[in-house]
Amino acid sequence: MKLIDLRSDTVTQPTEEMRKAMAVAIVGDDVYEDDPTVKRLEDISANITGFEAALFVPSGTMANQLAIMTHTKRGDEIIVGTNSHIVAHEVGGAAILAGVSYRVVSNPDDTISGDDIRANFREDDIHYPETGLVCVENALSNGTVVPLEKMEDAYTAAKSLNLPVHLDGARLFNAATYLNVDPKDITRYCDSAMFALSKGLCAPVGSMLCGSAAFIKKARKYRKLLGGGMRQVGILAASGIIGLETMTKRLQADHDNAMYLAKQLEKIPGTTLDISRVHINMVFFSLDRPGLTEELLKKGIKINPPENCEYRFVTHNGVSREDIDFVVQTIGM
Ligand SMILES: *Cc1c(COP(=O)(O)O)cnc(C)c1O
Repeated sequence: MKLIDLRSDTVTQPTEEMRKAMAVAIVGDDVYEDDPTVKRLEDISANITGFEAALFVPSGTMANQLAIMTHTKRGDEIIVGTNSHIVAHEVGGAAILAGVSYRVVSNPDDTISGDDIRANFREDDIHYPETGLVCVENALSNGTVVPLEKMEDAYTAAKSLNLPVHLDGARLFNAATYLNVDPKDITRYCDSAMFALSKGLCAPVGSMLCGSAAFIKKARKYRKLLGGGMRQVGILAASGIIGLETMTKRLQADHDNAMYLAKQLEKIPGTTLDISRVHINMVFFSLDRPGLTEELLKKGIKINPPENCEYRFVTHNGVSREDIDFVVQTIGM
């Protein structure tokens, strides 16, 4: 039975071209900075985001945690969205690894504005922790894309308070595709950025952390501290290069498929779906149908159980129009 996997874009398989490139990649010991393929991936990543340097890391979570460790000192407080990946899906790691506490912003749309930053910034007071960092996301974990004006507003406020801004851009290229802008037009509103190679770009492993040369030098040492210093990892970097050079160009197809899926799901009686929230490759909806997850699995369709009463279906390179028709037909039965 063919499986249709809508749980996430992390389930994407490396392409044939990636597997071939991985087989012939020239490699070296990357802890000695001897791996030419990793160096190339890092150079390309720095170029794409307009930063001086970049670092290949095993996961997006490690990239975010390294950014927090590098920007802050123990005891600081960081301003971050309540539904952000850093707060909701990283095991509270920043408290353990960086020793920081979270100053959580909870807006209905999950964005962080300049006013939010000013309101949550800690003035100099003997009782207060010091605010050390602002973390923003684009695309947001809720599947929407933050407009550039909003990013500029937050960045300007942070700069006026002398605060660094880290961008969790796990789906940076989805955001750039939706906004129809160069990724640099997004990353100009932050001091460091991370993006994932292992989601919609189909690489099997890896994320990139980008920033100034001094920032990346410090983050590289923290990566070693966390056990993330890897050796002949050009094998993996080779797939990431293809992700960046070719797979970023096909993301519109995933977005179109998500919109197509949303419009079909909307017609099924009992579904509640806000089509204006469909920006990238994610469709969120609610449907009171106990046992749906198990029911679909029997037909070869993998979905995650609802989170906060909402299903999230994600389109990617492994999901075709025909697959979507089959999914909709199966749920509609
Ligand atoms: C997936 C994701 C991450 C973390 O990536 P992993 O590689 O799974 O650790 C971070 N932020 C956002 C917004 C994500 O979607």
